[in-house]
Amino acid sequence: MVSGRTINLGVIGWPIAHSLSPAMQEAAIRAAGGDYSYIAMPVRPEDLPRAAEGLRCLNFRGFNVTIPHKTAIIEWLDEIDEDARRIGAVNTVVNENGRLLGRNTDVAGFLLGLSQKGIAVRGSRSVVLGAGGAARAVVWGLVREGAAGVVVAVRNAAKAKASLSDFDAHVEIISWDGDAFAEALKNADILVNTTPLGMTPNLEDAPPVNWALVRREAFVYDIIYTPSRTRFLREAEARGCRVQSGAAMLVGQGAEAFRLWTGIRPDEHAMETALLEALGAGAEGKE
Ligand code: NAP
Repeated sequence: MVSGRTINLGVIGWPIAHSLSPAMQEAAIRAAGGDYSYIAMPVRPEDLPRAAEGLRCLNFRGFNVTIPHKTAIIEWLDEIDEDARRIGAVNTVVNENGRLLGRNTDVAGFLLGLSQKGIAVRGSRSVVLGAGGAARAVVWGLVREGAAGVVVAVRNAAKAKASLSDFDAHVEIISWDGDAFAEALKNADILVNTTPLGMTPNLEDAPPVNWALVRREAFVYDIIYTPSRTRFLREAEARGCRVQSGAAMLVGQGAEAFRLWTGIRPDEHAMETALLEALGAGAEGKE
């Protein structure tokens, strides 16, 4: 029951109806057993500053931030952490006695998907496919954790070089049409798809990977979570590689947000079950 003592949490976005966060966070709350509530709040772009101020004044303990507010929210916060600064986006806000602190838990979410499978980033050679918003969290996570090399392979290298220019010192950006891509695939310890190729409903799409070049010891991660087994992952499994799907990253980012708000490490298994149920029930899927 919600009472005057209940600690309020939620998510803001526009639109918000398809958000998967309420299902996952409610499962975390149920498993943790604390007096928390989590609600989805539709906030129009033009209302963002007043909404942020309102949540501060209403004493919300924290909230998730989803599309289209992840970057725009930054100027309305008191502080952001290094992950959020590097990625250029905030997905979690913590209200620390009236100070709004912006975080980005996608890095922790992505890394959880690796650690769950016992994969160490330090010293690894990684290949990241795609260079959009999610790739920034993936690339920064790999760089932060000490990858020996990060190659970003894309369809349009000039565009990716411009959008990832702040990672210049840490990554090599190549076209996946050139010879350098074959070389990168041969050397890869970790191969990550961050493009939407293969996402529902385009199930037969996949990034152009020649699996004969990929070592069987390579670990293959697709951050797409619908479907849970993309064509990219099925081809990796057929090659003999170990794989991870995007549900791990999605659960991981939500679990880290819950931990930041409550100090409790939530039951990730319960969150994943709730996520899969929500996806099975036809939610289109957005953090
Ligand atoms: P985004 O910002 O639009 O970036 C997409 C990237 O993929 C860009 O580099 C884009 O290249 C490339 N791309 C798109 N369509 C392509 C195509 N047909 N052929 C080749 N390259 C293509 O998207 P995003 O926000 O990064 O999201 C990407 C995927 O990650 C989505 O499937 C999303 O659901 C998933 N995701 C998962 C999580 C999670 O927690 N598991 C979190 C965030 C995102 P151009 O720049 O050339 O268009």
